[in-house]
Amino acid sequence: MLSVDGLCVSYHGVPALLDVSLEIERGAITTIVGSNGAGKTTLMKAIAGLLVPDRGSVHLFGQDVGGRTPAEMVQAGVTLVPEGRRLFGQMSVRDNLMTGAYSRDDRSAIPADFETVLGHFPALRDRLNAPASDLSGGQQQMLAVGRALMASPRLVLLDEPTIGLAPAVVNTICDIIETISRNGVEVLLVEQNAHIALELATRAYVMENGRIVLSGSGKELEHNDQVREAYLGL
Ligand code: ATP
Repeated sequence: MLSVDGLCVSYHGVPALLDVSLEIERGAITTIVGSNGAGKTTLMKAIAGLLVPDRGSVHLFGQDVGGRTPAEMVQAGVTLVPEGRRLFGQMSVRDNLMTGAYSRDDRSAIPADFETVLGHFPALRDRLNAPASDLSGGQQQMLAVGRALMASPRLVLLDEPTIGLAPAVVNTICDIIETISRNGVEVLLVEQNAHIALELATRAYVMENGRIVLSGSGKELEHNDQVREAYLGL
């Protein structure tokens, strides 16, 4: 449904992505594993229209979406949950969720999606009128994912959603990623935690120094010696 082909991105002439190609298939959870600075966030931003690539293309359902703005990408069905969440701290949980639906044309479907999101994250229902900044870290991450789902996306890009969260909350986030996928929304997940990324992945890619260096099913990569040593600490 989404293909990235030969993508190159640089910051002020310094390359951050070098000839990156990947495929996101229907019904898949696609994950990208890589250490600090490998280029994972840059790739997400380029797909979401937040960075303009030097070269290469992004196709969504066969259509070239190069040059689209982030808002146009959301309308096309691609929503980013950025690292660090970027919530509106002073705004209520309810209003943060509703900002996700801002650009939707199908306004009549929004109340049902609001209920679906609260069904995924019951903890948010009790805090709807609280400012987002009052939530715990885990609840804030749930809110960030919920806000993305309020856009009714076809593809959600999740940048390090489990970072800094307690193990029990990490499990909740992993469960919701699987639920989102079962509900027909494609997921591209970036994770430094390779255990999580490979466990969830239908297909996984390993990035190093701006390049994809390995790809395979989550299971294949879990058994790859290089991955076991460098990313799984085995
Ligand atoms: P992390 O897990 O730390 O977020 P990452 O794999 O997501 O790492 P990126 O954030 O995409 O990596 O960074 C890739 C490279 O681009 C790094 O060398 C980084 O220093 C550089 N970089 C990222 N953002 C900028 C920026 N705004 N200006 C200049 N260089 C940048």
